[in-house]
Amino acid sequence: MPYRAPISDYELLFRHVVGFDQIASTEKFSEASEDVVSAILTEAGKMCEEVMAPLQRPGDLEPARLENGVLRTSSGYADGWKAIAEGGWIGMSGDPEHGGMGLPMALTSAVNEMMSAACLSLQLAPLMSQGQIEALEHHASDELKTLYLPKLMSGEWSGTMNLTEAQAGSDVGALSSKAEPNGDGTYSVSGQKIFISWGDNDFTENVCHLVLARLPDGVPGTKGISLFLVPKYLPDEDGNPGVANDLKVVSVEHKMGLHGSPTCVMQYDGAKGWIVGKEHGGMAAMFTMMNNARLGVGGQGVGAAEGAYQHALAYALERKQGKTPSGTIIDHADVRRMLMSMRADTFAARAIMLANAAAIDMANATGDAEWGARAALLTPICKAFGTETGIRVSETGVQVHGGMGFIEETGASQYYRDVRVTAIYEGTNGIQAMDLVARKMMDGGEAASRLLDEIEDHAEQARATLPDLAGPVWEATESLRETTEWIVAQSNMNARFAGAVPYLHAFARVLGAHYHLKAAQAEPSGPRFKLARYYINALLPEYVGLLAQAQNGADDLYALSVEEFVA
Ligand SMILES: Cc1cc2nc3c(=O)[nH]c(=O)nc-3n(C[C@H](O)[C@H](O)[C@H](O)COP(=O)(O)OP(=O)(O)OC[C@H]3O[C@@H](n4cnc5c(N)ncnc54)[C@H](O)[C@@H]3O)c2cc1C
Repeated sequence: MPYRAPISDYELLFRHVVGFDQIASTEKFSEASEDVVSAILTEAGKMCEEVMAPLQRPGDLEPARLENGVLRTSSGYADGWKAIAEGGWIGMSGDPEHGGMGLPMALTSAVNEMMSAACLSLQLAPLMSQGQIEALEHHASDELKTLYLPKLMSGEWSGTMNLTEAQAGSDVGALSSKAEPNGDGTYSVSGQKIFISWGDNDFTENVCHLVLARLPDGVPGTKGISLFLVPKYLPDEDGNPGVANDLKVVSVEHKMGLHGSPTCVMQYDGAKGWIVGKEHGGMAAMFTMMNNARLGVGGQGVGAAEGAYQHALAYALERKQGKTPSGTIIDHADVRRMLMSMRADTFAARAIMLANAAAIDMANATGDAEWGARAALLTPICKAFGTETGIRVSETGVQVHGGMGFIEETGASQYYRDVRVTAIYEGTNGIQAMDLVARKMMDGGEAASRLLDEIEDHAEQARATLPDLAGPVWEATESLRETTEWIVAQSNMNARFAGAVPYLHAFARVLGAHYHLKAAQAEPSGPRFKLARYYINALLPEYVGLLAQAQNGADDLYALSVEEFVA
């Protein structure tokens, strides 16, 4: 079954679940009417179905490669990029002053999710550009903005992010790349970066790298890091790509999946760069890009989940095995369990992603600090739960296929192999969970508590019509509140960190139930209600075990000595 864009899910979520009307009623997003949203989703969906989805398999079979120092992308990717660029999908949320469409992130997130469902490897390229666009909009000089933003938004040029070095992965502060001032306002950047997604390509005129490096007077750690824009070709006085900069792709990684996306080792040898943001203020600027990318990577997980679900459903509708009413495996209870879980989880993760994006939009449109805190709280949950859902659902998709799931020609395993890295890059999911229980609780748990109040109030109100669904949602939220208070009370951070991952999952389970409940209210006699009932009856109860783990503390984890681990 070819990929089908889940437009009706987005429309329902926008209309009844994540409050898109609130976004559209702000002055900033007043043009995002229902008609505009519908037209955009339909148009983007068509491009994903017709242009991007056919590129999914060829990218896997014919990976990006380096030939005599020249990066070659998979067949068809250049046309795919052209379609993405010409559709305006890169600069959807970009500033109209520089060629963007100024549309809400909620809408961009829906389009990004569709693109990742259709072809994850290729979609990573515009995602990197979008992160760079946002970082430049917030932190670059006017000259850099004027020169780079229109080209990045139109897709003539592309963007990358360069943080990771061999000894500096999760610990970005350990990086050793250097930048020396040239005395003319530019800098010479030197060092080696690894794992750089789309570090080069053969379809854009220029590739613009955002590189973290340390100035000579930069202190050790994250506080001494600055951010530089380092283009592959130095723009000439007309702003066209001129002479080649002193940088190169050293090699391209051989990976478990995501073969169409070139993951590059980059070498900078005194490459000319321009500072973005303040000297030693690189992390603040990079965080803008990383937060954008975390929302986007959460969406990659949702997209992969949707693609894997559609693939598995098509197989279940065809595969004959055992005596069933329809003659196919879709009537077996365990296959039903798998498909229902896949669909219900994907819906929950999608709702969390859109709620995250909606909070970002409301923060941008109103400047209200509470919306900012909501967005910050939801970001690690969106990233980690979205990507875990992508992994879990695509792994289940392999299982639905039985033995054929293990055979490459069905394409089932590609979803799993491709999405696996999303739990690792953009800050591992472990780091996301630590962010949730530490930085995002620095307010004493206030932002979390406000969200839990809202969920409980809504459940109270839903009791009148859907008591069997609303009751469990209220109870789960109350348990989550108790654990949140326990977490905030732990002054020993390791006690918080020990249970951070299960806590984040329990939080996502409760959020998912809340959004399912809203969807069930909107369509109380249709499939939305049935899906919500399954989620709340079968998946939500996981919170009990997760919250017990979350409060277990660190002592048991350190009970074995390192020697005992090894013995
Ligand atoms: C395909 C791919 C594409 C990538 N694209 C990019 C890119 O475009 N740009 C870029 O800059 N980087 C990119 N990366 C790098 C990626 O962001 C890092 O791999 C990731 O941040 C983890 O760093 P690491 O690999 O060094 O793992 P490590 O940091 O060594 O982590 C190993 C394990 O230890 C855990 N761990 C580490 N520190 C802590 C801690 N303080 N507390 C608890 N647990 C901890 C981690 O969660 C993980 O489970 C990419 C990686 C891959 C594989």
